[in-house]
Amino acid sequence: MPKKKTVSKKYKTCAGFASIVGRPNVGKSTLLNQIVGEKVAIVSPVPQTTRTNVRGVYTDERGQIVFIDTPGWHQGRDHLDRFMNQSSANSMEGVDCIIHLVDTGRQVGEEEHQVVNRLKNVSVPVILGLNKIDLKGKYFPQYIALWEEARGKKIEEMKDLVLMPMSGLVGTQVDKLIDTIFTFLPKGPLFYEADIVTDAPQKQVIADIVREKLFLLTRQELPHSIAVVIEEMRPAKGKTTFIRAVVIVERDSQKEIVIGHKGQLLKQAGTLARQELETLLETKVFLELFVKFRKNWRDDASILADMGYAF
Ligand code: GDP
Ligand code: MG
Repeated sequence: MPKKKTVSKKYKTCAGFASIVGRPNVGKSTLLNQIVGEKVAIVSPVPQTTRTNVRGVYTDERGQIVFIDTPGWHQGRDHLDRFMNQSSANSMEGVDCIIHLVDTGRQVGEEEHQVVNRLKNVSVPVILGLNKIDLKGKYFPQYIALWEEARGKKIEEMKDLVLMPMSGLVGTQVDKLIDTIFTFLPKGPLFYEADIVTDAPQKQVIADIVREKLFLLTRQELPHSIAVVIEEMRPAKGKTTFIRAVVIVERDSQKEIVIGHKGQLLKQAGTLARQELETLLETKVFLELFVKFRKNWRDDASILADMGYAF
C-alpha cells in the first residue's frame, strides 16, 4: 500500500483506502467491479475464489478511493488459507473506512459473528452494506441486531456505523455508497493516476480470468484445489499476445474434470478466457492451456510463491 505523504490544506481532492470485508459470496467482487467499471476481481458463484487483495481504484473530481477486496475470513486449514486470513487482517490496517458487506438473502451465520467480532472495535467508520436487496431478502434486521449486540447499543447511537441497503449487481445505491466513503476520506493528493483501475499484477489478473472460466464451467464439481499460473506471456506476430497458462490440480482425478470429455471443457474455458483477454489487452490472444497434477500444491511454498503469494 503506498504511503501517504503529509496532508495539507492545499489539496482540493480527498484520497484514501476502503476495505471491503464479508464472508465469501456476499458480493464483494461484484461490487468492486460495479464501482470500478472494469473487471478487476474474479466473480464466481463458487465461494472463495478471490485469493489476494486485488485493489480497485475509483477516481472522480472529488478524489480517489482505493478499494481492497478481501478474501472471506474462514478457518485456516493449510498454507493458502493462512495466507488468505493474513491478508484479510492486514487489509484492516491503515484504511480510512471499512465496508462490511452482507447478503440480506441469507441468515446471519457463524462467519458473520466472527467478522463482527473482529470489526466491532475498529477505530475507523464502518458502512454496513446490506447487499442484494434486488432479491428482496428479508434478513437485514438480523444483521442490524448483530451489530447492536456486538456494540451494546442501538444503531441510531452509533455515529461511526452507516447502514446502506444496496445491490452491487444492479447498481442500486452504489452512488450513495461512494458519496459516503468520500465523507470519510482525508484531503490529499491522488495515490494513482486518474485512469488506473487496479494495481494487481497483470499476470495475476489474467490467471484469475482463466480460473474464473474453469469455475464457471465446472461449478461445484471442482473444489478449490486448482491454481492457474501464467508461465509465459509475450507479444507474437500480427499484434497477437501469446499466453501459456498452466492449470495445477491437486489430485489426478481432478485432471479429468478440468479437461472434460474429449477435452471439451478445457477448450471451452480457453475460448471464453481468450475472448475476455482480447478485450482486456486490446490485442488478439493466442492462449495455450495445460493441466498439470501437483500433489498438495496448497502446501507447497514454492508453487505459492510462483503464483505471487508472498509470506
Ligand atoms: P464475493 O465472494 O463476496 O466476492 O462474491 P461475488 O462478487 O463473487 O458474488 C457471489 C455471487 O453473488 C455471484 O453469483 C454474484 O453474481 C452474486 N451477487 C453479487 N452481488 C449481487 C447482488 O447485488 N444481487 C444479486 N442478486 N446477486 C449478487
Ligand atoms: Mg470475491
